Amino acid sequence: MALIVHKYGGTSMGSTDRIKNVAKRVAKWHDAGYQIVVVPSAMSGETNRIIGLAKEISAQPDPRELDMIASTGEQVSVGLLAIALQAIGKQAVSYAGWQVAIKTDSAHTKARISSIDDAKVKRDLDAGKIVIITGFQGVDESGDITTLGRGGSDTSAVAVAAALKAKECLIYTDVDGVYTTDPRVVSDARRLNTVTFEEMLEMASLGSKVLQIRSVEFAGNYKMPTRVLSSLTDPLMPLEEEIKSGTLISFEEDTNMEQATITGIAFNRDEAKITVFGVPDRPGIAYQILGPVADANIEVDMIIQNQSVEGKTDFTFTVPRVEYAQAMQVLSNDVQANIKATGIIGDTKVSKVSVVGVGMRSHVGIASQMFRTLSEEGINIQMISTSEIKISVLIDEKYMELAVRALHKAFGLENS
Ligand code: ASP
Ligand code: MG
Repeated sequence: MALIVHKYGGTSMGSTDRIKNVAKRVAKWHDAGYQIVVVPSAMSGETNRIIGLAKEISAQPDPRELDMIASTGEQVSVGLLAIALQAIGKQAVSYAGWQVAIKTDSAHTKARISSIDDAKVKRDLDAGKIVIITGFQGVDESGDITTLGRGGSDTSAVAVAAALKAKECLIYTDVDGVYTTDPRVVSDARRLNTVTFEEMLEMASLGSKVLQIRSVEFAGNYKMPTRVLSSLTDPLMPLEEEIKSGTLISFEEDTNMEQATITGIAFNRDEAKITVFGVPDRPGIAYQILGPVADANIEVDMIIQNQSVEGKTDFTFTVPRVEYAQAMQVLSNDVQANIKATGIIGDTKVSKVSVVGVGMRSHVGIASQMFRTLSEEGINIQMISTSEIKISVLIDEKYMELAVRALHKAFGLENS
């Protein structure tokens, strides 16, 4: 019997009525002969609420305790969903991450899954039960509860699907798929029927909030077919229709019929830029600057180093805005004096805008079209980075939406 994993986001689990709808949809799939594992998020707003309680007491709560708190949202939703399924005559059982067990490392608040034990779940499925597993949480070696970072239940779902060798992982959410860009910014953004795994990886890392990036990495590593679809449709809609809805993350490029040169425009407002200037131009400097930043577990994204003038150069890079203060502290405490840099400046009012598409591999001139479009809008580019399938620019955050709209139009991505 084919196994399918369903993941429901916070909005889909947002009230007891919505949970009853989720139960109806899950029951429909089970009635059609599938084994079903469900991985839900906490009810919407709940994780923020409980983390907020901790922050009322301390500005920097202990990460272990924070995980203890943050993980409870999902524990409530799995129990409620099991009850909702039982209420309509289904056998269902819920588990917390540690009961399965979903093992992780000990990086509290951003743990990574290391293994999933499938024995218990398989036994239940074979006994005809629907199994519901908390998203977002796991357990480390010493038995402490961990969480996978905000939005982490996507990753839980895909990881569970991979461990159980599911046929497909369906991510039910409050949007009906992946769009060419955020429809809140560009009203005529278009839903994609398929997107390649690589494009999805870029879009997720570039700020598209549809899926947590690690979930896409899991899907890629295990070649797990993953579909993003709406949970707000009629739960009893015909299965054949539902199976084809949403956006499928595919692993084969050439079967992607609608392939255009550019697939989407991604953007990220959560960026900050740091420049270390007057840096001596000699071997080891990049490591001396970025090593301590990495040791503080801060992810560096775009990097540029200028040509040196009289033996001195400037070194500029971006970090997540929430980690800007910490990065600045690391640099002024540990780095600046060490490498004898003249100074450090930063800017938190920047955004990154990217064009993404596997079609870029076989087309020239994408970069120049992008830069021309931005120049026509009078938008100054502060940094540029490229990969095989994307070009990103860092710009003043004031112009972000303008840039996204202009590029969406310039590359002809709007609804036809
Ligand atoms: N409840 C967690 C969060 O709000 C995990 C998730 O929803 O994916 O971040
Ligand atoms: Mg989410």
